[in-house]
Amino acid sequence: MTPVISIKGVQKSFGQFQVLKDIDFEIAKGEVVCVIGPSGSGKSTFLRCINQLESVDEGIIIVNGEIAGYRRKDDKLYPLGDRAVARQRQAVGMVFQRFHLFPNKTVLENITEGPIKVQRRNGEACREEARSLLRRVGLADKAGSYPSELSGGQQQRVAIARALAMKPEAMLFDEPTSALDPELVGEVLGVMKELAKSGTTMIVVTHEIGFCREVADRVLFMDRGTIVACGTPAEILENPQNPRVKSFVSAVL
Ligand code: ADP
Ligand code: MG
Repeated sequence: MTPVISIKGVQKSFGQFQVLKDIDFEIAKGEVVCVIGPSGSGKSTFLRCINQLESVDEGIIIVNGEIAGYRRKDDKLYPLGDRAVARQRQAVGMVFQRFHLFPNKTVLENITEGPIKVQRRNGEACREEARSLLRRVGLADKAGSYPSELSGGQQQRVAIARALAMKPEAMLFDEPTSALDPELVGEVLGVMKELAKSGTTMIVVTHEIGFCREVADRVLFMDRGTIVACGTPAEILENPQNPRVKSFVSAVL
């Protein structure tokens, strides 16, 4: 089966500093991959390149059969224009550590903004879908609230619903619970578990080892811009062979 996302030979530098070194990666439909690794190892940059928030220096990222950021012509790759990049970005939903909701819009408006304004879909249909997404993330009664009236956990669940409203092929999560008070982490992880169970293709950067163990099909360990190890949760978390993985895992467990 064709992978939903396929990454080949991706390199990315900021100035002299190489953040991603020759990354190869694929994720199949419905697969959940958790990404762990030390701070500064390139995890966020990895997700940001997939979502076209950063451009890559070398290599290609294929999302749903299309080469992200490029079109092929005469066997050469040419950068896409801003509009095409924006269209392609819709194929992957992203949830950030900080929720980035529009503060002056209600919860419902936050969710329908993209589908209506960007995808130009029917307003009433989008509002109906948004209500159904709010039920799914357990916030059916918050449609008319403003972000400032919600807890961090509730805001992050709205951010998840907002990303899902664009009907993405895959969801990317960048430490979605790191900014939350400990008692609010569980409600967000609960929503993510439900998404995983219902077949959503997900890449999750997280320090929640329990979540990795329970939900991930594969765990990927990144260090200094490379994928050092990739395997089942048991292989990576319970019995790591690589010494760098071993010392990281024993430190966070
Ligand atoms: P992680 O998410 O694993 O903590 P990041 O992908 O955020 O790692 O960052 C990897 C490295 O790249 C870090 O050293 C960081 O300082 C650097 N970096 C990230 N974004 C930028 C940027 N926009 N400009 C310069 N350096 C950056
Ligand atoms: Mg990061």
